Amino acid sequence: MKIARFSHNSAITYGIVDGPELVVLAGDPMYVGYDTTGERVPLGEVTLLAPAIPRSKIIAVGRNYRAHAEEFGNEAPEEPLLFLKPNTSVIGPDDAIVRPPQSQRTDFEGELAAVIGKVTKNVPADRALDHVFGYTIGNDVTARDLQRTDGQWSRAKGFDTFCPLGPIIETEFDPTVGELQVRLNGETKQKAPLSDMVHPVADIIAFASAAFTLLPGDVILTGTPAGVGPFVSGDVVEVEISGLGILRNPARDA
Ligand code: MG
Repeated sequence: MKIARFSHNSAITYGIVDGPELVVLAGDPMYVGYDTTGERVPLGEVTLLAPAIPRSKIIAVGRNYRAHAEEFGNEAPEEPLLFLKPNTSVIGPDDAIVRPPQSQRTDFEGELAAVIGKVTKNVPADRALDHVFGYTIGNDVTARDLQRTDGQWSRAKGFDTFCPLGPIIETEFDPTVGELQVRLNGETKQKAPLSDMVHPVADIIAFASAAFTLLPGDVILTGTPAGVGPFVSGDVVEVEISGLGILRNPARDA
């Protein structure tokens, strides 16, 4: 099932994608299930929004594809290397990524995003995927120069607009198959199977939930493959994952 969050006639709501239409839901399905309002709206008449609103946090994993760790001279860590992005960094499909004046180099990082569906604490890896509501696409936008000079990553990865999510959440996605691709102005920059992750999604959730209580709507960004690079104002970044669609965002300067 494909779940969208969208605005239509200035109302914001959720819907199930059914061919060219959306079946409108009565509330946030992560909290109140799948009751419908009985209304259907054409997909072409809505504006898609970020499909999840992390109530508490976005947890991201650094260096989770070996070739990406190596492109900056690092090794892939033995345990997942976690960091947080603020929920204020989230934008939706087609929203502009705003390059801040404090940074001279802003990079794209295409990533698979898991959306948590239940309160989760100390879940073992073999049950961790039962706690996922569904999957979407993320872009862990990074001010690469500030990541180096700050010494830790909060500001470099936490600017407003630095977490595009979308276009929809797929509830039946298998995170161990499929391929991720990133295109910059149509040119392929990143391309890797999701099976190249050093720590698979289930292991990341188990590891993270041993530290933090995960809440419905929290988002886990699962790391980026090799090929990250900078973009500038006027560029368009597309992240595509087979089965999840394409997350497209233009860039502009502040
Ligand atoms: Mg990343």
